[in-house]
Amino acid sequence: MGRVLVLGAGLTGALCCAMLRSPSLQVTVWEKEREAGGRMSNTHWESQIADLGAQYITRMPGTRQAHQGYYTELLEAGVLKPLEGLVEGMKNMELGTKHFVAPRGSSSIVNYFLEQSDANVKFGCHVTHVLLRDGELEVWTQNGAHDYFDTVILSVPTPQILLLQGDLAKSIPTQRSALQKVRYSSRFALVLFYNAGQELGVPWVMKYVTDSPIICFLSLDNRKRSCEPLGEAPVLVVHSSVHFGAEQSQCDVEEVAQLIQCELQRLLPHLPSHVHHKVHRWCHSQVTVPVDGSPGHLILHQRPLIACVGDYFTRSNFDGCIESALSLTSTLKSLL
Ligand SMILES: Cc1cc2nc3c(=O)[nH]c(=O)nc-3n(C[C@H](O)[C@H](O)[C@H](O)COP(=O)(O)OP(=O)(O)OC[C@H]3O[C@@H](n4cnc5c(N)ncnc54)[C@H](O)[C@@H]3O)c2cc1C
Repeated sequence: MGRVLVLGAGLTGALCCAMLRSPSLQVTVWEKEREAGGRMSNTHWESQIADLGAQYITRMPGTRQAHQGYYTELLEAGVLKPLEGLVEGMKNMELGTKHFVAPRGSSSIVNYFLEQSDANVKFGCHVTHVLLRDGELEVWTQNGAHDYFDTVILSVPTPQILLLQGDLAKSIPTQRSALQKVRYSSRFALVLFYNAGQELGVPWVMKYVTDSPIICFLSLDNRKRSCEPLGEAPVLVVHSSVHFGAEQSQCDVEEVAQLIQCELQRLLPHLPSHVHHKVHRWCHSQVTVPVDGSPGHLILHQRPLIACVGDYFTRSNFDGCIESALSLTSTLKSLL
């Protein structure tokens, strides 16, 4: 039986697992965090949740036929629903474009595909080494666990691939240089939690901010998902601008949170006081320079097979991840 290890339980990894589901393959996922989601993860406080990374899914009218089934499936399962309400400052989109949100949070999209895949998902497994051993791949984690696989799929951002040690690091000079050229933006996400019944006094569900050097996007997350009863506790998600994210990339996150809150006060002086906050630094937020000229994945080693996949081959959104996962899995199916 083919033993496949997928590194990373983000959207691309979860899609690969679902696409590879087969009685002849034994698919395992090792994820360094304690839950699935990656850049589609949620944060929690008491009973409130908020989308920390991806905020909504956009289906363009020209979306490839091959992707339509994924939208239909997620809508039918209640994992996605149409986005309703005012989005201030959103660029005019091509006629027929549709936006969707995940009522149970964006990580529910990733979890849906993992559940469909029947893969064996292990959390807290930070992979550090990939070694070639007599036609097999020996993979080690930070806490000393290891196992053997026939195929390894790396679905982690490129800087994390480049950190992997072992034979992989020595044997792929050409591919390494392609991966080294990939660039990501960085930004901060600040989440403000309010008491139930507090009114934020804003008319929008989400707002693109154009007159601030610090803040670029705001989402009233509970209203966006509109799945809570009236009198719910508001949750406001604030994304920093890319410029501010780069400028503050080495600073203490709590000091950065203070700066963002001061700017928020200037933009929305009537906001009530929040009761709790969380701040997160996205070091590798969205891809700004993808891998040049690849079909959507890269084979790093032929036998045994090591391949990488992710939004850095296409673009940082739902369709970009599907495109990359489809490209890799169709190649794998023909090889395995
Ligand atoms: C702030 C922000 C806003 C965004 N907004 C949108 C949006 O509105 N709409 C949209 O469609 N997209 C949006 N995106 C982009 C979207 O989230 C990404 O394109 C997508 O989630 C990428 O998925 P991935 O699986 O390729 O990578 P990731 O989500 O990064 O998954 C990689 C996984 O690998 C794990 N990992 C890393 N290294 C290791 C290791 N050594 N061992 C084990 N596990 C490891 C990570 O913990 C992670 O779970 C946004 C992203 C961010 C950050």
